[in-house]
Amino acid sequence: MKKKPDIVAVGGGPCGSFSAMTAAKLGAEVVVCEEHEEIGAPNHCSGHLNIASLQRLGLHIPRGAIENEIRGAVFHSPSGKEFVLRCRAPVTYVVDRELFDKHLADLAIKSGVHYLLKSRVKSLLLDSGSVKGVALEGSGERLETNVVIDAQGCSSTLLKKTGLKGLKSSMIVRGIQAEVDGVEGIDEEMVEMYLGRKVAPGFFAWIIPTKNAQAKVGLATMTGDPRKYLQKFMEKHPVASEKLKKSRVTSLSLHPIPLRGPLPKTYSNGFLVVGDAASQVKPTTGGGVIFGLTCSRVAGEVAYEAVKNRDFSETFLSRYQSRWKRLVGFDLSAMLRLRRMLNSLSDARTDGLLDLAGRLGIDRVLEKVGDLDFQGRSLIPIIRYPGTLVVLLYFMFSWLTSSGKN
Ligand SMILES: Cc1cc2nc3c(=O)[nH]c(=O)nc-3n(C[C@H](O)[C@H](O)[C@H](O)COP(=O)(O)OP(=O)(O)OC[C@H]3O[C@@H](n4cnc5c(N)ncnc54)[C@H](O)[C@@H]3O)c2cc1C
Repeated sequence: MKKKPDIVAVGGGPCGSFSAMTAAKLGAEVVVCEEHEEIGAPNHCSGHLNIASLQRLGLHIPRGAIENEIRGAVFHSPSGKEFVLRCRAPVTYVVDRELFDKHLADLAIKSGVHYLLKSRVKSLLLDSGSVKGVALEGSGERLETNVVIDAQGCSSTLLKKTGLKGLKSSMIVRGIQAEVDGVEGIDEEMVEMYLGRKVAPGFFAWIIPTKNAQAKVGLATMTGDPRKYLQKFMEKHPVASEKLKKSRVTSLSLHPIPLRGPLPKTYSNGFLVVGDAASQVKPTTGGGVIFGLTCSRVAGEVAYEAVKNRDFSETFLSRYQSRWKRLVGFDLSAMLRLRRMLNSLSDARTDGLLDLAGRLGIDRVLEKVGDLDFQGRSLIPIIRYPGTLVVLLYFMFSWLTSSGKN
């Protein structure tokens, strides 16, 4: 390893590894600092990822990391109505996030990236407002570099030091997930989503089957204690509790999810922010891996270009933001609007919406939607179907008449 690497990525999660790999493949010398002694652990994520998006990113997931293949979703309305969306072929994978993260780190190492494990970055080295490196906790070792990529996940500890606006607490929902076995009565090819203000205020609950009667059961909430909501969901929900009554929790994790759209500014002198740290997360579902990786690839490219041009100014690095916005900006803002609308609906309106969608055959329309990740632009072609328009109008009407009342 060179004494002064070109680029340092903070965090060995998917976004840290992918941005590092991208820059290293282009020719930069890159170091990743990861606070834990092992990549991927502890794991907090369901690993529910769109197959087409993984392919678009050029990622071929090893068989051993794929826990299941999913064909669709069953949405359960607050009063127990079902809306089923089933595709002919599998559309998503459920991956083991620990193995997935290790796979990405292996790819990065093969491209020449150097990992420093058990290396928590305590602070940034700053000189006249420019980031010049990182200081590690414990040893106090200082690692000088030209560009720091902040991929430390849902935390704003580092970026605030550069003067960038961090994640506000109102942007964050609290997620909880239990891995369970002994699940009964579920279709192993379908994920289940449970809506309702009493189930998970401001979000939803899920059962994601893996295999052999095992599943990931979780939810996120805007208010209240997610542990209590999860216990109530597993023990008292009229539909879910029947499926989970013989289940046994084998692991439990709590982790925040940033939901309110990306940070307004994601670059500064010698500094880029990616993934959860930049809130590049789908506000509708809380999925952050695919968009995070999409933006991380851009961060890796731009960091390399800065090294090549010997220009680490924020004027040069601002191209990162314009490029990632071109790729996912529209979808993120469309999904943020959808999330706000969904959160403003009363349970009765949510029931009405799912009921109407089922009766108008919206499942058959959505089945044709090629890309489940890019929900903004996916809406454009399906709006042509008259049924979709009726549902959207109902959605808009419900939102207009219920916003502010609930
Ligand atoms: C319950 C739950 C379920 C989810 N399910 C899905 C899903 O099904 N699909 C999906 O797409 N997304 C899902 N997500 C979101 C997904 O987990 C995140 O979007 C994704 O992990 C973000 O990747 P990242 O690399 O930005 O951050 P992370 O995966 O959080 O990685 C950050 C890394 O940085 C390290 N780190 C932090 N601070 C430091 C420091 N100071 N120094 C050194 N290292 C540091 C951490 O140890 C960690 O390894 C879920 C989230 C939750 C909470």
